[in-house]
Amino acid sequence: LDYAGYLKSWIRTVPNWPHDGVMFRDITPVLQNPKTFRLLIDIFVHRYMDQKIDMVAGLDARGFILGSVLAYELNVGFIPIRKKGKLPFTTVAEEYELEYGNATVEMHTDACKAGDRIVLIDDLIATGGTMMAGYKLLTRLGAEVIETAAIVDLPELGGSKLIKDKQIPLFTICDFE
Ligand code: IMP
Repeated sequence: LDYAGYLKSWIRTVPNWPHDGVMFRDITPVLQNPKTFRLLIDIFVHRYMDQKIDMVAGLDARGFILGSVLAYELNVGFIPIRKKGKLPFTTVAEEYELEYGNATVEMHTDACKAGDRIVLIDDLIATGGTMMAGYKLLTRLGAEVIETAAIVDLPELGGSKLIKDKQIPLFTICDFE
């Protein structure tokens, strides 16, 4: 069975959002249907269930949806990596470049400990900036990122190549050219 192709068929493309020229890949239909939501999460669960994972880290905001369910199923804790200014305790921060300007992600300094085996998840890889920033936060605290993971890769934007060129493991379910 072509699970990847089946899930891909449930991803909606919204042209010209959030601005002209962008083809936005919208995963909300996958979440809306209980059968595809379960299939999606089960793909990640089966991939990581025997990997001795200590924590799942999710990127703001769709990575929270995927990551918290995955963490629950793996019976491990969840780490939210948030956009700047949202976390109340002491944080580590990483700034990265966007198409226009910069963005910053933050994580609590006690969110994980050195040597923790972590899966880092988001919905989609475009330029790879968001995933790389999250990866840097985790490794700065000494954690071991076993794999970065997303539903969708947009290979033309170069992020997945950038990540793999740094020898960082990356798993994506499907891509859109
Ligand atoms: P990157 O940092 O350029 O790789 O962009 C990835 C981040 O932007 C992820 O957090 C995505 O949720 C979001 N993103 C960028 N493009 C899309 C898209 O077409 N659909 C959904 N999310 C997107």
